[in-house]
Amino acid sequence: MATQNQAATAPNSELSDLPDRTKAALTEVMTVLDDIGRVRDAPGLFLVVSSSGSTYLIDAQSGTCECPDDQYRDVTCKHRRRVAFATGRRPIPSWVPEQDLDDDFGAHVDGEVQRTATDGGVANSGFTDGTVTNPQLDPFAVHNEDDPRTKRAKREDIDVSFLAKPGRYEVYSASNSVYEVDVLAETCSCPDRAEYCKHRQRVDIEIHNGLVPRPDGKLPNAG
Ligand SMILES: [Zn+2]
Ligand SMILES: [Zn+2]
Repeated sequence: MATQNQAATAPNSELSDLPDRTKAALTEVMTVLDDIGRVRDAPGLFLVVSSSGSTYLIDAQSGTCECPDDQYRDVTCKHRRRVAFATGRRPIPSWVPEQDLDDDFGAHVDGEVQRTATDGGVANSGFTDGTVTNPQLDPFAVHNEDDPRTKRAKREDIDVSFLAKPGRYEVYSASNSVYEVDVLAETCSCPDRAEYCKHRQRVDIEIHNGLVPRPDGKLPNAG
């Protein structure tokens, strides 16, 4: 098999840098459903059909999945991660190549798949100058379907600054605590044991909206 040189513009980050469950959530064939059977008209409930044909019930609000991985280990399983990506609750890093994503992404659920800022600038929502009239454009607008942690991530007086290390952000919470969020390793130094704490959510929102530099350190509007 011929090997080809990597393009000079290859991103610093690779899919293999992601935690296994996140990689699986992005690339494995899964179907997320929110409008049939047990989950019809049930906000926050989803069914995920895996490539092996198993179906699991996910409660995005309480953060549970029926699968053994989620029930018996202290983790967030790939199904829950997939639901977060497919519904746009969690943005997909822009450097993850489109062709690596499962084709079925976001096909059967409400909400739109979100990508973090791509090269060449991002939409500036302009909320800081108070000109936003459409709540859809305000990244900190709280929606009914937001889970409690997401609401706190948006409402609280949290300050995010970029550290000069790839993917690291310092987060100043409303309680004057300082935590370090690592976007690539998907960790936060806070005591909240939830996989996707409000600090990580806040950092993702700020990156997605170009309010802080992207994980690679480039300024949001740098070409
Ligand atoms: Zn699961
Ligand atoms: Zn945290």
